[in-house]
Amino acid sequence: MTALHTRPIPQPITTAHEHAWSVESRHRTSDGTVLYVRCGDCGTRRVDVEQHPSMPPSALSRTLRR
Ligand SMILES: [Zn+2]
Repeated sequence: MTALHTRPIPQPITTAHEHAWSVESRHRTSDGTVLYVRCGDCGTRRVDVEQHPSMPPSALSRTLRR
């Protein structure tokens, strides 16, 4: 039987982790609400767009249309 709590796996902050996104700013566009989020753990920034308030925001993988 394996112990559940063995050595913790070191997680360098530069590798992928579950980002703790917090919204820094937001503004409305014709495509939806653009959210500028930043991970409080590693400082990575991301731009999300929330097309419908009832749906979770999705990460922009392409540049914004003008
Ligand atoms: Zn992060």
